[in-house]
Amino acid sequence: MTGVAPTLTGTKVLVADDDAALVNTLTFILREMGAQVVGLPDGEHLLEQLERETPDLLLLDIMMPKVDGLELLRRIKSDPRWTDLPVLMVSSMPPEDATVQSFGLGAADFVPKPFRVRELTARIESRLARSRELRAAHDEAVSQAKMVDILHEVTDSLKPEEIYHILARRVARALSKSRCSLVLAKPGDIFGTVVAAYENPMLRNLRIQLGRYPEILKALETDQVVIVEDVAKDPLFADVRAGWERDGLEVQIGSVVALPFRMRDQQAGVLFLRTTRDEPSLTHGDAHFADTVIKAAVAAIEKAHDFASIVSDRERLEHLAAHDSLTGCLNRRALIEQLEREWERAQRYNLVLTVLMVDLDHFKDVNDKRGHLAGDQALQQIGELLRREGRSVDTVGRYGGEEFVVILPETALHGATIVAERARQRIQAHNFGTADVPVSVTVSIGVASVPDERAMSPESFLALADAALYRAKAEGRNVVRT
Ligand code: GH3
Ligand code: MG
Ligand code: MG
Repeated sequence: MTGVAPTLTGTKVLVADDDAALVNTLTFILREMGAQVVGLPDGEHLLEQLERETPDLLLLDIMMPKVDGLELLRRIKSDPRWTDLPVLMVSSMPPEDATVQSFGLGAADFVPKPFRVRELTARIESRLARSRELRAAHDEAVSQAKMVDILHEVTDSLKPEEIYHILARRVARALSKSRCSLVLAKPGDIFGTVVAAYENPMLRNLRIQLGRYPEILKALETDQVVIVEDVAKDPLFADVRAGWERDGLEVQIGSVVALPFRMRDQQAGVLFLRTTRDEPSLTHGDAHFADTVIKAAVAAIEKAHDFASIVSDRERLEHLAAHDSLTGCLNRRALIEQLEREWERAQRYNLVLTVLMVDLDHFKDVNDKRGHLAGDQALQQIGELLRREGRSVDTVGRYGGEEFVVILPETALHGATIVAERARQRIQAHNFGTADVPVSVTVSIGVASVPDERAMSPESFLALADAALYRAKAEGRNVVRT
C-alpha cells in the first residue's frame, strides 16, 4: 500500500488510452484509492464498453490510433444515457486547442500529458463528488415530484378507504415493491385491520392477529420506523421463526419495514412493506421515502377534513359580513377597507386610481310613485349594471342608501370618465319596471382620480368625488362630472 486514502471506494472508472504503460499506472493508482478500474487499449469499442460497465467516470485519451477521442466524446455526449457522465480528457495535444474543443463537446475536465498523479487524482475526486451531488439532487427532485403527485391524488379523494388504497399503491410503485399494506391498530391491540394492500386491491378490512407481526407491534409500541433487513436473522423474529419451523414453513419473507402513523382523530396504524427472499432488501432510503409519504399524506388528510367542514361556513360568513344583502355589492365597511388597500397600493407603486360616486336622481320620487319595493328592485339592478360595467379588478360598493362607489384601480381620469359615461347611459336606457309599467331611473356620477394634491387620504379622495357629484346634481342631474 502506498498510504493513499481509499476515497474512490465504490466507484468504477473506465480508462481509454492507447498508452499501455499509462493505463497500467492509472489502473494501479486508482485501485489503490479503492476504485474499480476497467482499461481499454483503444477507443474502438468504447460505446459498447460504456453500456456494459456503466462507469462513474471516463478517462479518455484525445489521440488514439484507430479513433478520434474528440469524435468519441461528441458521440458519448449526444447520447442521453451519458450526458451526465463525467469525462476527463487526457492528451498531449496543445492544451489550448484541446481544452476549447473538448469543453465545447461537454467534457468535464481536461488533463494535459504529462500529468502529476496528485493533480489527476484530485481532479477525479472532485468530478466524482460533483456528479454524486448532482445525482442526489436529481433523486431528491424526483421524490419530491412523486410526493406532490401523491398529495394531489390524496386530497382529491377524501374517502378514507380510498386514501388508504392510494397510499399503499403509491408507496409500492414509487419503491418498486410488490407488497405494501396499511394496517389500522393502536398500541396494545391484539388484532389489527388491514385496510389496504397493494398486492390485493380487492381486500377490505381484513382482521389480522398482530402477534404474528412483531415488526408491526414494535412500530406501534415505539412509534418509530422498524426496519428488518433480514427476517431469517433478526432477533425480533426469533419467536415467529420458531413458529414457522414448528409448522414446517420455509421463510419466504426477506426484509420488512413498518412505519407507524397517527391521525388527530386517533386513527392510528402502520404502513407495512415486505420483500420476498429473491427481491432486493428494503433500505433506510426506502423507509425514509415511505415515512415522508405517510407523514405528508396524514397532514394532507387532516387538513382536507378540517377544511371541508369549516370552509363552507367560513366562506359564507365572510361573504355575508362583507356584502350588502339587497344589491350583492360590497357594504360600506368592506368598501372602505378595499379603498384603503387600493389607496396604499397606488401610493406604494405610484399608480393612478379612480373612484366614481354614483347617486340616483330624485330617487325619493321613485319610492313615492312606485313604492319602496320597486325602489329596492331598482337599487338591486343598478348594483348589477354597475358590476357588469366594470372589469374584474374593479370594485362596486353600496356607500349609502342610494349611493354607490366604484373603485377603478390603475385607471386615470380620462378612461374612468368614459366608463362612467357608459354606465350612465346604460342606466338611463334600462327599464327598471315591467313592460306594462316601465320605470326609468337616472344617475349622476362624480369622478375623482389620484394623484391629486387635494386628495391626501382615502377620506379626502372620496370627498373629492362627492364634490364632483354635487356639481353633477347642480348642473341638472343625469350627467358625469369631474
Ligand atoms: P337627488 O339625489 O337627485 O338629489 O334626489 P334624491 O331623491 O335621490 O335624494 P335624497 O338623498 O333626498 O333621497 C334619497 C332617497 O333614497 C331617500 C330614500 O327614500 C331612498 N332610499 C335610500 N335607501 C333606500 C333603500 O334601501 N331602498 C329604497 N327603496 N329607497 C332608498
Ligand atoms: Mg339621490
Ligand atoms: Mg343621496
